[in-house]
Amino acid sequence: MTELTKVLHHRIAQNGPMSLAEFMETCLLHPAHGYYTQQDVFGASGDFVTAPETSQMFGELLGLCLAQSWQDQGCPAPFVLLELGPGRGTLMADILRATSRIDGFHQAMRLHLFEASKKLIDQQRKSLIGFDPVWLDNLADLPNLPLFCVANEFFDALPLHQYQRKGEGWHERQIGLTDGQLSIGLNKNPSVTPQLKARIEDTAEGDIVEINPQTRAIAAQIGNHIEAYKGVAIIIDYGNWRSLGDTIQAVKNHQFVDILKAPGEVDLTAHVDFEAIVNAAACAASRLTPQGVLLERLGITPRAQTLAKNLSGPALEHHIAAHRRLTHPDEMGTVFKALALFPKASSPPPGFQT
Ligand code: SAH
Repeated sequence: MTELTKVLHHRIAQNGPMSLAEFMETCLLHPAHGYYTQQDVFGASGDFVTAPETSQMFGELLGLCLAQSWQDQGCPAPFVLLELGPGRGTLMADILRATSRIDGFHQAMRLHLFEASKKLIDQQRKSLIGFDPVWLDNLADLPNLPLFCVANEFFDALPLHQYQRKGEGWHERQIGLTDGQLSIGLNKNPSVTPQLKARIEDTAEGDIVEINPQTRAIAAQIGNHIEAYKGVAIIIDYGNWRSLGDTIQAVKNHQFVDILKAPGEVDLTAHVDFEAIVNAAACAASRLTPQGVLLERLGITPRAQTLAKNLSGPALEHHIAAHRRLTHPDEMGTVFKALALFPKASSPPPGFQT
C-alpha cells in the first residue's frame, strides 16, 4: 500500500466517498506524497516524455510564434510572458533562447510562471537562471499588462468530476472503499450541476461526462485578461472538442496502469475539453489544430534540416525520430491539439486559423 493510499483510506473512512476531482488532486499534489511533489517524472528515466523534452524545436517554434504575435500587436512594452505548469522549465528555456534576438522582446518581458509543485519550482529556478521569473500562486495576481501565455500538457493535469447518466439525471462517480480496497462507485443522489443538463442532448443511458471546474476558471481568467489587456495564449494538450466517456488515465514507466493501483506513484491525466476552454474565455479562439499541422505551419521541417546539418550517427537518428514523434499522425501529431486565444480585435497567431 502506498503512503498516499493510506491517506486516502483514512479520509474516506472519516468523510465518506470522495469525488474523482478530490482523488486526482490529492494524488497529484498532496504536499508530502503527491506525484508532482515527490517524483522525478519527466524524461526517458521518468514516466513520460513531453514535447519540449522530446526536442528543442518545439519550444523554439512556439517562442517565435509568440514573438511574432507580440510584434503583430505592436510590440507592447512591458508585457507578461507566462507559462502554466512549466515542468522542468525546458519549454520556457527554449522559448527564451529562440526569442533572444527579437528586438526589444526580452527587455519588455516580465517572466511569470504558474506552478503548484515546490520540487518543480526548484528545477525551474535552475533551468531559467538569469531570467528572474516570478512564480504566481494565484492567476488573479497577474499584472494588468498584455499577456503572452503558453501551456503544454498543463490542463490535462487539472482535477475533474465525472458523472454517469441514468435516465434524465446524472450521478457523480466517486472513490470509496469496498472490502478494504479503493473502488469506484456512483453517488446515490443525483447531481444538479447546470452544465449537465445540456449534455442530455448528445448522450445516452450509461454515458459518462466530465466537468473540470479548474479548467473553466483558469480559461476564464486567461481569456478575460487577453480580451482586456491584449496578448495571446497557446494551449497544447491531448483531448477533443467535447469530452465524452471516462478519459482519466494513469501512466507509470511509459505504460498505462489502473488509476487505483498506486496512488501518488503514477501520473494521472484526463483529456482536455477544449470546448469548455473556449466557452469560458471572453476573448476570440482559433480552430483546434493538430500539433503536427501547427508545427509544420510554423516551419519545423526547415528547422529540423538546419539542425541536422551539424549532427551525425546516433544524434542524427535521435533528431529524426524526435521530429517524427512531434509531428507524425501515428505519434503525437494528431492526438495532441493546439488552441490559440487572442483578442477579438486581433488575428490569430501564426499557424492558427479561425
Ligand atoms: N509543460 C511541461 C510540464 C507538463 S506536466 C512540459 O510540457 O514538459 C504538468 C505541469 O503542471 C507540472 O509542472 C505540474 O507540476 C503542473 N501542475 C499540475 N497541476 C497544477 C496546478 N493545479 N496548478 C499549477 N501547476 C500545476
